[in-house]
Amino acid sequence: MKFDPAEFEFAVPPSLRAALEMLSQSHAGWLPIAGGTDVMVQFAAGTLGSRKLLSIWNLPELRRIDLLPGEVQIGAGSTYTDLREHETVSREFPLLVRAASWTGGIANQNRGTIGGNIVNASPAADSLPALLVYDAELVLVSVRGERRVAYHGFHTGYKQMDLGPDELVRAICLPRRFSTYFSYARKVGTRNAQAISKVGIAALARIEKAPEDAAEPIVEDVRIALASVAPAPIRLTMTEQTLNGRHLDPARLALARQKAMAEIQPISDIRSTADYRAAVVGNLVTEFLVKLREANTPQSPVLARWNALGVADAESEMLACCGSRNWARRMANRRPIFNQAELFPAADEIWRNLLESDWDEAFRSHPRIGESHPKALSGRSAKWSAGEQSSAASADDALRLALADGNREYAKRFGRTFIVCAAGKSAAEILEILQRRLRSDEATELREAAEQQRQITRIRLRKWLTE
Ligand SMILES: Cc1cc2nc3c(=O)[nH]c(=O)nc-3n(C[C@H](O)[C@H](O)[C@H](O)COP(=O)(O)OP(=O)(O)OC[C@H]3O[C@@H](n4cnc5c(N)ncnc54)[C@H](O)[C@@H]3O)c2cc1C
Repeated sequence: MKFDPAEFEFAVPPSLRAALEMLSQSHAGWLPIAGGTDVMVQFAAGTLGSRKLLSIWNLPELRRIDLLPGEVQIGAGSTYTDLREHETVSREFPLLVRAASWTGGIANQNRGTIGGNIVNASPAADSLPALLVYDAELVLVSVRGERRVAYHGFHTGYKQMDLGPDELVRAICLPRRFSTYFSYARKVGTRNAQAISKVGIAALARIEKAPEDAAEPIVEDVRIALASVAPAPIRLTMTEQTLNGRHLDPARLALARQKAMAEIQPISDIRSTADYRAAVVGNLVTEFLVKLREANTPQSPVLARWNALGVADAESEMLACCGSRNWARRMANRRPIFNQAELFPAADEIWRNLLESDWDEAFRSHPRIGESHPKALSGRSAKWSAGEQSSAASADDALRLALADGNREYAKRFGRTFIVCAAGKSAAEILEILQRRLRSDEATELREAAEQQRQITRIRLRKWLTE
């Protein structure tokens, strides 16, 4: 211990008014102490800025929670336990209560106050992101009177704030308009409990019900706040703007991840590196948006299972639908995908943007029309091929011979397997298509083959979704 307690003065004023009178004596240099869970750490470290401690612990004017029609006023002297046990606060402000539940251990929650958390102004403080997304306002009080400020402008930099030396935080006011919002919070630390966060997030969003003709709902009033990624907790306003009024399709999720990672100013310190923090922010923002979607979009059970697989397993499942490994990998990396309306455009777009060598790989994975394929990639792929080509396989001998001849000629002319979306076509139709395409030039035929593979992939994806 670097300080001698005997050098300290400790005053316990009987009321808020008396405490404010003492603070107004500018020469006296009193330092308020509420639960003392930060002040005593500074005391032990020998870094306290004053040797005159003014207790505001348990002052009834500060330790109360008032329910008004438009807002809840939480006294700054309320402890984390007070918040966790309060029925209305728990119901209407779950993000604050979740933050309270992971602030230190039970002893700390019985003693630490929300006012202390605000004024201690750690960039890693757990309750502050929740205050940001709930649009909290602070009531500051001194003998000069009261003033009310928006919390989002209160912390102006690292441990900097809009609070005079004679002022106390009296109450935190939370508007009662968020109880129907979807909420999400996480604290990423070395351990789940009793650890300072490497990154903390609190997020809210409202879902607008979709008009009849819209594929899915859009999100409004998205609010995302983070701790431990800047000198003070911040809102991700640019990321929020890219989301408001939009569908949460995969492209929008990817954009939001990028924006969030670009919007923060993390540092490297003893708890983590800046790069790690940025990656975690990207993951947390994505997880919030995925959960938001899941909560509001009917999700195909097959896709839900696939979304949860590791990349290698997800890729291998896709290979049965199209034999290009690059296509399958990119599909796996495009997850989460929630429904057919997203799956098909993603599959098409990835297919179109592959190299010719990737297309060839997919073509090679098919048996020639009318033949079985010794190297079929999976049992499922072989089964689907057999079904798609059943009419060619059961054609009479003359037709099968003509198809085999045509296949050989095609391979000689274009150097690859003839691809046609055979499902629903008779052997005679397939032969006629083959003969027509043999007359095409190379570029036209390559485009045609790629289009046929796209159609085959789509049919197989549809089967996969309903299996
Ligand atoms: C073991 C341990 C674990 C912890 N874990 C976490 C954690 O997981 N997450 C987290 O966010 N924090 C954590 N903390 C930090 C601490 O518990 C919180 O910041 C707590 O909310 C501080 O409240 P307090 O009442 O104890 O503040 P105090 O220590 O009494 O005061 C802190 C600062 O706030 C000022 N102050 C207090 N109340 C007011 C007021 N009403 N008006 C003006 N100024 C005021 C004081 O002057 C002082 O500068 C931990 C601390 C410990 C010791």
